[in-house]
Amino acid sequence: MSRTLQLAEQLISRPSVTPDDAGCQGILGERLARLGFSLETIESGPADFRVTNLWAVRTGTAGAESRTIAFAGHTDVVPTGPLEQWTSHPFTPTHRDGKLYGRGACDMKTSLAAFVVAIEEFLATTPDPRLSLALLLTSDEEGPGVDGTVVVCNALAARGERIDYCIVGEPTAVERCGDMIKNGRRGTMSGKLTVKGVQGHIAYPHLAKNPVHSFAPALAELVAINDAGGWDAGNEYFQPTSWQISNIHAGTGASNVIPGSAVIDFNFRFSTESTPESLQQRVHQVLDSHGLDFTLAWTVGGLPFLTKPGELVEAVQKAIRDETGIETELSTSGGTSDARFIAKICKQVVELGPTNASIHKIDEHIAVAEIEPLKNIYRRTLDRLEALLHV
Ligand SMILES: [Zn+2]
Repeated sequence: MSRTLQLAEQLISRPSVTPDDAGCQGILGERLARLGFSLETIESGPADFRVTNLWAVRTGTAGAESRTIAFAGHTDVVPTGPLEQWTSHPFTPTHRDGKLYGRGACDMKTSLAAFVVAIEEFLATTPDPRLSLALLLTSDEEGPGVDGTVVVCNALAARGERIDYCIVGEPTAVERCGDMIKNGRRGTMSGKLTVKGVQGHIAYPHLAKNPVHSFAPALAELVAINDAGGWDAGNEYFQPTSWQISNIHAGTGASNVIPGSAVIDFNFRFSTESTPESLQQRVHQVLDSHGLDFTLAWTVGGLPFLTKPGELVEAVQKAIRDETGIETELSTSGGTSDARFIAKICKQVVELGPTNASIHKIDEHIAVAEIEPLKNIYRRTLDRLEALLHV
């Protein structure tokens, strides 16, 4: 059995549902400590939601010219869902038809195993690299994410520690390992809009003011802007910004009462062509132009980031090409990830991991044939970045 597969199975056996690390970071940290990494565990969060983070680093020999590459990821997994719907127990790694089944097989314990084995193999052939190596792990990526990667990034920033390149192991492949990587992600921002009216009897509308009716024309205008691609047109790397309502709620439940207020939840996924401020201003403009009485609370979940083709993207592209023959596609689509926090302290961040078709599902799995290539791509990337420090 391959060492990556073995380690992946060891991790899958740990029921590390957010925020419980269930000992995963200990297993990985121990392997790295043997290779000369220094380990730092940073715990964060309240007693009933304690998050475990690990920062492991091994300094290279290049001194002032050194570059640090960090592999980043999460040891936590999403809940299993109904156990009786799983063909085999989610925390008992099981093989069927060339696939490894278990919660976290894809998202993202196999990536974590591949990180560590890639580092081990790299150091076996390059015992004193000029490159500095690091691993950043959290047990809260699938949860609120407030005590996870962002806490480690803030700690690193506070003491002036630098990351030059970062590979996040999120599952990014569509059909085959290496066919897609993310070199950026859209931003996310939510709004909670409360349109105020006056509650009253349905039979006496002149004595009330229906907030659903007063919001309707503004809603039509917002939808029209969105459907016309009117927030922004996107750019070479990003699709146009999109806006979607996730919930509308009004009314008391009685059929003869005009509601006193309407609450509308919505979310923007935005490109680097827009900013939270520009989008907020535009929405306020529309609401004001319809004379609405409203309050609006905004939450910026993450700013967009982009890593333009450069040392890291090229090293990864070459590693994928050499290992699989695939010309990988650069993409910024999909949801957010912890890369948004890392991008604040690291200019070159990409996400590269296994096929994402079964993530968060019942019977999550990874094709066993995908595991060695993934580890080899990580190792080849290290070789490439090390070579850059020797020219
Ligand atoms: Zn994940």
